[in-house]
Amino acid sequence: MQRRFAGPSDLHLHSDHSDGTEPPAKVMASAHRHGLRTVALTDHDTTSGWAEAADAATSLGMTLLPGMELSARHEWRSVHVLGYLFDPDDRDLRDLTDRIRDSRLNRARSMADRISRDYDLRWADIVAQTAAGATVGRPHIADALVAKGFVRDRGEAFAGILHPRSDYYIALYAPDPVTAVAAIAGAGGVPIVAHPAGRAGLLPAALTERMLDAGLAGYELGHRENAEPALSRLQALVARRDLIVTGSSDYHGVGKPNIPGEHTTSDDMVARIIERATGSAPVYP
Ligand code: AMP
Ligand code: FE
Ligand code: FE
Ligand code: ZN
Repeated sequence: MQRRFAGPSDLHLHSDHSDGTEPPAKVMASAHRHGLRTVALTDHDTTSGWAEAADAATSLGMTLLPGMELSARHEWRSVHVLGYLFDPDDRDLRDLTDRIRDSRLNRARSMADRISRDYDLRWADIVAQTAAGATVGRPHIADALVAKGFVRDRGEAFAGILHPRSDYYIALYAPDPVTAVAAIAGAGGVPIVAHPAGRAGLLPAALTERMLDAGLAGYELGHRENAEPALSRLQALVARRDLIVTGSSDYHGVGKPNIPGEHTTSDDMVARIIERATGSAPVYP
């Protein structure tokens, strides 16, 4: 049976199951209020928000593409791989995300220890900013620093205390981008590189080829962090290889200025994602 979704579509939204500030149902309501009719919940390294998001989205008449933003790393730089419509029970992918979330917890504790040498900040302050079971990250440490009055907002925390060049910074464990792409593809999902033309610029061409060989489906070219000249290079690549192109807000509630629907994905491209996926189905209203 052919089911229909309707645009406009925003395929990258975060809830408090990772570093967004709203529960999944509230994220869905925010998206709907901004006129969206198809959305994806893409919390970092977890699928725990899917059920609540599905209920809320369908009761609002929206279609939900269950998703995730998987943490990866190439040398010193972090690479985020969005995955759509994969099987949430796939063993290999679950093992990978369990490992990333475990290491995130240890890493956040270690960073808190370092920060507490100079600031009156305890682990309990970070726990207080983190929803139970959420994927913990620097944004929660930032929120604790804000609550304590040490910084004005997340942005100021990331520019200073939490910056990768700060003495308090510790890298998190994350798989290489080829492994991340293969894990999503292996679970029947559709892997798309998030904000691929950000400040760090393009990944090396040879790595890109290996990611494509591993099942990479496309790039999130519509995102506020993308910039020239990397963006034009990727537009050319996508046209040459007929890859999928998405556009999204990367909404984090009040954790970032990004507004639902500030970039959107065309109906054609949403249909291609749905056609390509074998791991799970969209949730229709
Ligand atoms: P982590 O994965 O723990 O290293 O933290 C990275 C996360 O912090 C990303 O998912 C972003 O959503 C968030 N982030 C990065 N820079 C900023 C910023 N300047 N303001 C708010 N959030 C940010
Ligand atoms: Fe985030
Ligand atoms: Fe990201
Ligand atoms: Zn994101």
